[in-house]
Amino acid sequence: MIILKLGGSILTNKDSNESEVNYTNLNRIAKEIKDAIDILNFTSNQDLNKSESSDLINSLIIIHGAGSYGHPPAKKYKIGEPFTEEEYPKKRIGFSKTQNSVKKLNTIICDALINEGIPCVSMQASSFITTKNKRINSFNLELLEKYLKKGFIPVFYGDVVLDSKLKVAVLSGDQILQYIAKNININKFTSSKKINASKKVILGTDVEGVFTKNPKKYKDAKHIEKLSSLEEIEEFDSTTNIDVTGGMIGKIKELLELAELGIESKIINANEHGAIFNALNNKEVKATIIRK
Ligand code: ADP
Repeated sequence: MIILKLGGSILTNKDSNESEVNYTNLNRIAKEIKDAIDILNFTSNQDLNKSESSDLINSLIIIHGAGSYGHPPAKKYKIGEPFTEEEYPKKRIGFSKTQNSVKKLNTIICDALINEGIPCVSMQASSFITTKNKRINSFNLELLEKYLKKGFIPVFYGDVVLDSKLKVAVLSGDQILQYIAKNININKFTSSKKINASKKVILGTDVEGVFTKNPKKYKDAKHIEKLSSLEEIEEFDSTTNIDVTGGMIGKIKELLELAELGIESKIINANEHGAIFNALNNKEVKATIIRK
């Protein structure tokens, strides 16, 4: 099983306060995913006993970030921050605006995937996931598992959700990824010979993984090939001033939780042509591997 996260920094212009899709990246990546599906499907049909062969149909989940569609409205309306009763109507409309905006981005992304012939199905977190103090406390995986079994490729995305403590909160794609990787029961799918029974997590962002410092700011930032704790990083900061979900550090915290459970993740630069295709194909790509 592969869980592929496409960062908001790749699919949108994240530096912008306006909602802007990066269509060049989106269309290229949609094609890379389709090519990987076709190649792996072909390989696994050729040799079902090969341990690395894995049919991506039935075992690929895509998650994308909210980028400039989600962070600006979530920030403007301070979604996830405490508020008074009088402020609730404003907060509520901010929730609606954010939900609507990320839904639009998801539609554009699904359009690109469908144009490539990828049988995707959109999974809207705000419709069935809730949090308590910004952490997922209710997420029924049954529907996701059913869609996978029927050969759909589910597409989740960063969204706003109801929160039992804060009323409303922002749920990052990175947290959705962590929850699914941790909780999905792949034994349910192993009845099919084609399915690779291990869990692999790939995150495409706009840098080649984790560095000792922000590589966009510091020339002397050193690439970290294998990361097993936050202590290996000297400094974090967000590339953009709009990120409301913790940027690179938020991502790494989620991935270190997976590493504790023996689930390895790989952060790659999805701006590199072919990186997503190669990572899905288990070929070498410059990356940071997060594992214990
Ligand atoms: P995405 O939207 O793709 O999920 P983010 O914008 O949240 O990605 O995080 C990626 C950004 O994190 C990079 O563009 C990079 O500038 C920034 N960053 C900050 N500190 C680091 C670090 N130590 N190593 C790598 N990237 C870092």
